[in-house]
Amino acid sequence: MHSIDVAVIGAGQASLAVGYYLRRTDLSHVLLDAAPEPGGAWRYSWDSLRLFSPARWSSLPGWLMAGGPAYYPARDEVLRYLAAYEERYRLPVVRPARVSAVGRDGDRMRVSSDAGEWSARAVVSATGTWSHPYIPDYPGREGFRGLQLHSAEYRCPEPFAGQRVLVVGGGNSGAQIVADLSQIASVIWVTRHEPTFLPDDVDGRVLFEWATRRYLARLAGEDPARAAPPGGLGDVVMLPPVRAARDRGALRSVRPFVRLSESGVVWRDGAETEVDAIVWATGFRAALDHLAPLGVVDAQGRVATDGTRARAEPRLWLVGYGEWTGYASATLVGVGRTAKATVAEVVSTLAQAG
Ligand code: FAD
Repeated sequence: MHSIDVAVIGAGQASLAVGYYLRRTDLSHVLLDAAPEPGGAWRYSWDSLRLFSPARWSSLPGWLMAGGPAYYPARDEVLRYLAAYEERYRLPVVRPARVSAVGRDGDRMRVSSDAGEWSARAVVSATGTWSHPYIPDYPGREGFRGLQLHSAEYRCPEPFAGQRVLVVGGGNSGAQIVADLSQIASVIWVTRHEPTFLPDDVDGRVLFEWATRRYLARLAGEDPARAAPPGGLGDVVMLPPVRAARDRGALRSVRPFVRLSESGVVWRDGAETEVDAIVWATGFRAALDHLAPLGVVDAQGRVATDGTRARAEPRLWLVGYGEWTGYASATLVGVGRTAKATVAEVVSTLAQAG
């Protein structure tokens, strides 16, 4: 059993931001990561994925990603950046170390993993969402005989050349996969509502700016909704490939089908369309199985928090995941703010505990 002040679970971008601030303290800490290599979820994203905001607005605390104000880094560049970030700040990452359970052990927390056990005074969970893809439960899904995959498994369009593919989901993943696939496949894009497209001359930065305005308004006790438009990270950023898809007429969406058949989907009016494959770009849920022993995960698969601190367990913090752990906290540039506040709170909590 290793004894430590703070155990951080995961070593994706959120954990690295937490590690950056922890190394400025005198608390002993470790980052336990299930993955065999650096990069978190970025290791699994599709080949053509580009960031929706320029390098300068896609950086973790302390070190700007290379490329400047008008450059949108590709997935491999993010992977290299995250690996170099770990090295640059000599973050104490242990991998592979999959945490199976976090439990209470007197006044400490017990963190059990397949690489050993840690006894910690505080735990920061930052395990992301990528390992928990979400697929809505449409009737007939089990009986569909074509290929089904989640965006988490989508890599490139080539295997779908000449096929009829249905892409479900109206966020950035859906739009980018439609743009990718529609170059060589016949694509139907299914979204619940008409997707919200940002203007061509606006990129992901504006979403961070709005998030910041809402965050500051909340701190000031004002209504966040009045401080900035309701745009969220699901609004579609018109990256060049997405714009090109729109210009060739490939970015039109239709409202959902009612069920799947063996060979396709059945629409509201009873008509049926045959497809070879369905790509579900329908999002993710937080990966929180390891917190089950604490009894803090609610029916929606979230943990009730004040800021990032679990309400029902004052030695547990959650960083990354989504808006519920802080505005824009699931992004490279946004997570720095919540990581900084989290570490400050951990420091003062442990100082008070003595
Ligand atoms: P992850 O990156 O998922 O890291 C979590 C780590 O925890 C992983 O290494 C995992 O192996 C590990 N882990 C999980 N469970 C355990 C366990 N039980 N024990 C130990 N380790 C565990 N963000 C931006 O900032 N800019 C963008 O332009 C952008 N574009 C995006 C485009 C798309 C299409 C999508 C889908 C996402 C985009 N994102 C973007 C968001 C970004 O990819 C994720 O939100 C981000 O990777 C989340 O970081 P994280 O550290 O919270 O989780």
